[in-house]
Amino acid sequence: MSERYKKVNVTCPICKKSNNLDIPSIVFSQKKIGTIKIQIPKGVVCPDHQFIIFFDSEGKVRGYEKIDISMTMPKKKDERQIMEELTLKKMMNIFGTYEFYSLIHAKIFNYPIFIVIGEDFKYSSNFLNKIANSILPERYTGGRTIHIYKETDYDSIEITTKDGLLLDVNKQILQIPWEQKLKFEENIVNKALEIIDEQEQTFVFQQIVSDFTKEAECALDILEDIDDISKKDLIKEISKRLFKPKINSYRFNLIVEFINQRFSPKFTEKIR
Ligand SMILES: [Zn+2]
Repeated sequence: MSERYKKVNVTCPICKKSNNLDIPSIVFSQKKIGTIKIQIPKGVVCPDHQFIIFFDSEGKVRGYEKIDISMTMPKKKDERQIMEELTLKKMMNIFGTYEFYSLIHAKIFNYPIFIVIGEDFKYSSNFLNKIANSILPERYTGGRTIHIYKETDYDSIEITTKDGLLLDVNKQILQIPWEQKLKFEENIVNKALEIIDEQEQTFVFQQIVSDFTKEAECALDILEDIDDISKKDLIKEISKRLFKPKINSYRFNLIVEFINQRFSPKFTEKIR
């Protein structure tokens, strides 16, 4: 690979200010079909707006999407905050709010995570994998899906699947492999932040993720025994079996994503 970064001119879709960004070349070299999705935080292109930008594999801009998640914490890296124990708030300070939601999404939905770190980053991949596994229900733990690289090791990053999350802490760049909005993750974090005890926060994570995986497992059970089913009937059947109100379309799409990523798309292909 010749250049580590590719210069791309990006214009803010809201205020039209523009800036040249260094996007990791590896993002474009994955021969990915379809669009590449990159999150642009506030202050990178213009001071006021954050958004997601879509590129084709040539690096041409194909579109924009506004990020409508409220930023519960400012993005700020304070070295004094980096201590032995990683709490929720510290994690959000280190990675940034949207990046943190993306890490949670990648962990729950089993996307490999590639983090390119700065010099002041003090955590090992072992440690981060341990923390990340602690938010999952028992049967989904054990995976080592977080990989850490120094900027100088860029060329050795092996994104073995096109479906990885790439977070470059130096350049504040995040390549996102999924279509879903991160409302589910925002909700988990907000619920956890309501709790003062930091140990209890982990249990809140586990509980909410576990409620979700029960729905996904129920959907999987139904799909395993059937040749085809409509989305409407599947939602009805999940509700009946779990004695719960019917899930909405967003939740349904999350379930489909979960089954595709953790089991196989052959099940969700049965949904008409
Ligand atoms: Zn702007």
